Amino acid sequence: MEIDGVRITTIVKDNVAIRCDGCFDIIVGTPWRVNLLDIVATEKPSSWNESPAINPGPFQFHSDPACVRRWMAARDYFFCRRGQVREIMRPVPIPTADGGKVRWGLCDGIHRDDHEFIPA
Ligand SMILES: [Zn+2]
Ligand SMILES: [Zn+2]
Repeated sequence: MEIDGVRITTIVKDNVAIRCDGCFDIIVGTPWRVNLLDIVATEKPSSWNESPAINPGPFQFHSDPACVRRWMAARDYFFCRRGQVREIMRPVPIPTADGGKVRWGLCDGIHRDDHEFIPA
């Protein structure tokens, strides 16, 4: 650009870089977006102060399942090893034996047998 005959060169810096929700590094190229489905049914009505609603996303990651698993682990989610990390994950409530706070497992919901949740 030019103002009053003075040429000004501006360094265009990309400051809208997308960062990975898993490892927090900048994502070059198209991010991998993961959405969590709405919870359709829970076994017992949950009171609003017991479990905060799950943020459905979308969350953005490098196209690496490890980044998504890292994000799950940071949020205390379990991961169903019968499924895979996919663009749409289904939250499944995991009741605790002592009736404590419900924890969440994420599964792609494609397999037909029982979930096998492991710590992400
Ligand atoms: Zn990453
Ligand atoms: Zn599963």
